[in-house]
Amino acid sequence: MATENENPVVQANRIWNDALALLKHNQSLSSRDKGWLTGVIPEAVFGTTIVLCLDNAGTRQALENELKQPLLDALKMVTNQDMMPAFKIATPVQTEQENNSYIPPSLADLGQESFAAASSMPSAPSALAMPTETDNQYDSQYVIGTNKMARDPETHLNKNATFDTFVPGDSNRFARTVALAVAEGSGRDFNPLCIYGGSGLGKTHLLNAIGNYALVKDPRLKVRYVNSEEFTNEFIEALQNPNQSQGQIAEFNRRYREVDVLLIDDIQFLGGKEATLEQFFHTFNALHQANKRIVIASDVAPKNLKGFEARLISRFDSGLTVDVKPPDLETRIAILRMMASMNHSNIPNDVLDLIAERFTENIRELEGALTRVTAVASLSNQPVTRAMAEQTLQDFFTTDVEIKPTDIIGQAAKYFHLTFDDIVGRSRMKNIALARQVAMYLTREMTSMSLVDIGKVFGGKDHTTVMHACDRITTEMQERQEIYNYVMELTVRLKQNNN
Ligand code: ADP
Ligand code: MG
Repeated sequence: MATENENPVVQANRIWNDALALLKHNQSLSSRDKGWLTGVIPEAVFGTTIVLCLDNAGTRQALENELKQPLLDALKMVTNQDMMPAFKIATPVQTEQENNSYIPPSLADLGQESFAAASSMPSAPSALAMPTETDNQYDSQYVIGTNKMARDPETHLNKNATFDTFVPGDSNRFARTVALAVAEGSGRDFNPLCIYGGSGLGKTHLLNAIGNYALVKDPRLKVRYVNSEEFTNEFIEALQNPNQSQGQIAEFNRRYREVDVLLIDDIQFLGGKEATLEQFFHTFNALHQANKRIVIASDVAPKNLKGFEARLISRFDSGLTVDVKPPDLETRIAILRMMASMNHSNIPNDVLDLIAERFTENIRELEGALTRVTAVASLSNQPVTRAMAEQTLQDFFTTDVEIKPTDIIGQAAKYFHLTFDDIVGRSRMKNIALARQVAMYLTREMTSMSLVDIGKVFGGKDHTTVMHACDRITTEMQERQEIYNYVMELTVRLKQNNN
């Protein structure tokens, strides 16, 4: 393909220009598809990887989906070999948090767009201005359980997520036992350990608990927690500076290959990201051969991971795979009791029972319900009682009338002073993205639609996008009063309009 010594930037430009010409003439692509290509700037080529800089996440989504195959074909035709594109979103102004890598996984998952700097949200109806991430206006009384992030800058571990704060039950006992063995260093045969299960069932908690405990046992260990989005970003970051790239890749490799315990979360999001997966494969092999501990969390069993090569899946299978399931009633009550006691909240048993009966599938939601009840009591200066909890849960979580997703989208658009098309569109403007995420969250809560169907209604988004939105709003609601207010006010409006 390239002349050996060609500058990586020149090379990228040349390849991209040729590929672009082919793509523009590709009759199977609509003009809308082709439109995405204008937002692509070639950055550099390293071996068979071409780094493409994109102006927004929508472009990346298009390139990873409808444009994926045509792009790979065009690159192959131009270079005469298989090329792997690596996408980089043009970085917005970094917040202090990003610099410190303090981004909670659920935020980082959404790419470079974060709520930070959302103070530019002109139409936010709440009286409260949107704080930046660094404003730290978290009101600790609304943060229940272990959700509050206290990530270590070095290991990226959430120090609050430990085995002590992990309530065992039939649904997670085996996973917990094995995790403990790996943390203690006795579970050498379980390498890698793969933990899988639905959202909000404790996978991230267990990964962090392993790291924290391994460090208690041996503080000299190098432990690293990373979610797959961070891993991708760090890798692309290392690739991006053409002059120092070799050094940065070496540094990236050093960072990951020197660790004794690698905890990699939400691995499913690496699916289809070929360049990153290739890199991960090498990292994995290096660590595995050196007998270093690797723990992987995923929302599906390894064999069901999409967009992963068989050779990687078979590596995962060579260790031990365990799952976490939704907790039974007894465990849910025990979890609520622990969360309440950690928060020094005095919550009557009948209220804990009520919440535990109502929320069965997801511990994050269980936590969210407890948070809402505590927040309402605290805001109105009342003690938490069963009647008050019933009312709160009634207001937020139940509905007699069928609410349609289009009602939610329409109402959210009105509330945030946007249009229906904004909500279902692809704009990544902070205020629009937030409104969309709130609407997705409400659709998930107020209808019985699946993530996939919600994605379809919201303009053909992937179900993972919906899942991220729901996770993020759930977390943010507990930490930021104004997000809580948006959800609360919109819920009330939707219910009023439907009665
Ligand atoms: P996942 O990664 O599976 O989506 P998380 O680990 O983020 O789920 O768990 C969601 C929330 O529930 C977190 O705040 C976590 O601390 C809490 N949680 C999950 N499992 C337990 C448990 N067994 N005991 C106490 N808290 C738990
Ligand atoms: Mg998780």
